[in-house]
Amino acid sequence: MNCTEFLANLTDYFDAKTASSLRSELEQHMADCSHCYVTVNTTRQTIEIYRNDELFELPESIRTKLQQAVLIKCAKMKENKGRKI
Ligand SMILES: [Zn+2]
Repeated sequence: MNCTEFLANLTDYFDAKTASSLRSELEQHMADCSHCYVTVNTTRQTIEIYRNDELFELPESIRTKLQQAVLIKCAKMKENKGRKI
């Protein structure tokens, strides 16, 4: 799966009805591609805002820690550039 295919299937990733085979393909691409990983996290946050009343609200401190962890992870991934995507 490449980035174009990933983005084409991105909405399916958040759909509970999506087949687990496609879901694992998407997760595999995300593990290797920091760009798509960030995209998914941004999209997820946006969806959380829309579904706010259906989701358990994370305390702000935990949310901030999670975002920092993601940023650190992305920075590390960028250092590993040169890997073929
Ligand atoms: Zn990608």
